[in-house]
Amino acid sequence: MKDILEKCVNYLKFYNDRIGLPLELQLKKVHSYNEVENNKNVLKESQGKHQSITLIEEENLFAEDWEKSQNLEQLLEKIKNCSKCNLYRTRTNFVFGSGNYNADLVVIGEAPGSEEDLQGQPFVGRAGQLLTKMLNSINILREEVFICNILKCRPPGNRNPMPEEIKLCEPYLVKQLKLINPEFILALGSFAAQTLLKTKEPLGKLRGKIFNYNISGKIIKLIVTFHPAALLRNPQWKKPTWEDLKMFKVMYEKFKQSKI
Ligand code: SF4
Repeated sequence: MKDILEKCVNYLKFYNDRIGLPLELQLKKVHSYNEVENNKNVLKESQGKHQSITLIEEENLFAEDWEKSQNLEQLLEKIKNCSKCNLYRTRTNFVFGSGNYNADLVVIGEAPGSEEDLQGQPFVGRAGQLLTKMLNSINILREEVFICNILKCRPPGNRNPMPEEIKLCEPYLVKQLKLINPEFILALGSFAAQTLLKTKEPLGKLRGKIFNYNISGKIIKLIVTFHPAALLRNPQWKKPTWEDLKMFKVMYEKFKQSKI
């Protein structure tokens, strides 16, 4: 984008030199809409002989409306009727996520199931109850964290999300993470882990490690464990899940202590 704008500036300068107007051209980078507004004000003030044109280079100018959300409430309002992928046709409810909008920990699963779809809330039903117990086992209250999924709408019959659906929906999750600004992510299940870490590695190879998830330069510590729905089907995985949670607990409590 910068290249294109620089070319525009050069063309305008070229023609301006030939018609001899005292025109000052600037290529400015702005980081927020406030800055855009400020630039407009500066432009309004620069009347008369010396005229200033400010070309603004900023991805946000070409962003969709939801990307400009300043908080989660705004984001929810702007995306709750999303119809970008076909899942909007079969959903009962859009499932944004719930919990603490200033959480240090964001828990991320795969996609809403039938109960979540009916209630419009993430991790309700038996898997949700188990998640609450898992969090409580490491002294974390459900209300303390933010819980959401990679996809915001239920795939019919709980089938696996399709690549196109992830591609269209994941930017909402990224925006949620930017707004919440957490220190930690707990990825539940192979699907969430592989999507977030951009890998095809199986869950067994992703567990027991601490990953750095980079979001606009901010590093969020990410660990992976089993999805509670999988635990309900495979109780033998409870022990390794407990190991993951204990590992996370050490890190989380150390962070909490450092804040006191
Ligand atoms: S799954 Fe995501 S991208 Fe698809 S309709 Fe729902 S919110 Fe939109």
